[in-house]
Amino acid sequence: MGTGRERVDPPVAYECTAPAHQRGEAGPDKLTVHEGAWAFCPYGARSEGHEWKATGGVPLAMLRLAAAARQKEQVKSGVK
Ligand SMILES: [Zn+2]
Repeated sequence: MGTGRERVDPPVAYECTAPAHQRGEAGPDKLTVHEGAWAFCPYGARSEGHEWKATGGVPLAMLRLAAAARQKEQVKSGVK
């Protein structure tokens, strides 16, 4: 508990909200730079057709959790 050396997640200024990008099956590169700030796409930074939404600066770990939760919901509701 509390080693004081936890990895610091960079705040992410943009999140991709393109419906086609919420599946999280693409490559490991989910972070890119948009307008000079970090941007997160759950599908992969190298894909095309992002729809960036300003987050106001959310830690990367939170975006990953939110994306995973969305993907679970899609599995539950049978979205393919
Ligand atoms: Zn995207």
